[in-house]
Amino acid sequence: LTVLGLESSCDDTAAAVVELTRAADGQVTGPGRVLASVVHGQTDLHAAFGGVVPELAARAHAEKLDLAVEQALSQAEVPLSAVDAIAVTSGPGLIGGVMSGVMCARGLAAGAGLPLIGVNHLAGHALTPRMTDGLEFPYLMLLVSGGHCQFLLVRGVDSFTRLGGTIDDAPGEAFDKCARLLGLEQPGGPAVEREARAGDPTAHRLPRPLLDRPGCDMSFSGLKTALLRARDGIVAQKGGLSVQDRADLCAAFQAAASDVLIEKTRRALDVAAGACGGQVPALAVAGGVAANTALRKGLQSLADARGIALVAPPLRYCTDNAAMIAWAGAERLAADLVEPQDLVPRPRWPLDRTSPSLLGSGK
Ligand code: ATP
Ligand code: FE
Repeated sequence: LTVLGLESSCDDTAAAVVELTRAADGQVTGPGRVLASVVHGQTDLHAAFGGVVPELAARAHAEKLDLAVEQALSQAEVPLSAVDAIAVTSGPGLIGGVMSGVMCARGLAAGAGLPLIGVNHLAGHALTPRMTDGLEFPYLMLLVSGGHCQFLLVRGVDSFTRLGGTIDDAPGEAFDKCARLLGLEQPGGPAVEREARAGDPTAHRLPRPLLDRPGCDMSFSGLKTALLRARDGIVAQKGGLSVQDRADLCAAFQAAASDVLIEKTRRALDVAAGACGGQVPALAVAGGVAANTALRKGLQSLADARGIALVAPPLRYCTDNAAMIAWAGAERLAADLVEPQDLVPRPRWPLDRTSPSLLGSGK
């Protein structure tokens, strides 16, 4: 199956062509083949505003989608007529961008007489390790990005159980705020990680929120406030921050954030094992924060200690992209799970439809 995917739910306009193969018995035999993956970012567009401006994003998506599709098809050397289906992110995300993508996909599908598949953006992230590494179900996915933070037990193309997640900020957002408080550039994650290398993580005692509570939920907004206090304490004492002060603050922040993520992952693995009737065979991680070396090291030791695999797809497929949407669409097509209601653009769309406690919890 060859699927064209479109993604425009946040601040990246992306199109990709992905090929999925099936065995004689119809089973999907990953990994998939990414024939093209085009991403047009909007960082410059929003830079002056300190965050993504939804109206600007939607307009830029509408302007760039056709180009992204054209580029993806030409790089893949696949004409639209040779594609089996078109997949598009239909939520969750900024509604204007999602609508631009769905409208563009509708037009293309109608023009070429192709089936159209609505894909949940989070399902795209969650199924990525199958596309990149051919990972088999079940596995535990830790999704950590600028907008998301959650544990998903992935048992099938359409079977996701949310085991917990952040109750406030996402870690990427917290890294970005940390960088802003310390006068570092955006995106904050790489900047904080770089500074932290020269810092002492024990120089400041930052909190590890919710670690004393059971369950897999996390909180990162208090960390930012604690960092602000620590910074102001130094400034009040010395009149400013030295290079070393900044490095120490970054190191302490990174240690606190990764401690929380790693300890909660340990618990999520236990919960997942309980739900699977034994050890869950693999831990997968996706999202921009998965680039963080301290976090990766911690997750790797956790996986090693349990004798399970840690799967971290290449960063270009961990951050927002359309290959993951095309792949998720192809998996749905292969499993005969193409439903018209999935094409309704939705700003909120929890993956786990079965757990009542999650309804209304948003992303
Ligand atoms: P999504 O809609 O999936 O949340 P996003 O654009 O908000 O998309 P990503 O592109 O997946 O998120 O990731 C970007 C985030 O990852 C930023 O907040 C950035 O600071 C963070 N990040 C990137 N590299 C690192 C790193 N080395 N350490 C920590 N955080 C990082
Ligand atoms: Fe995303």
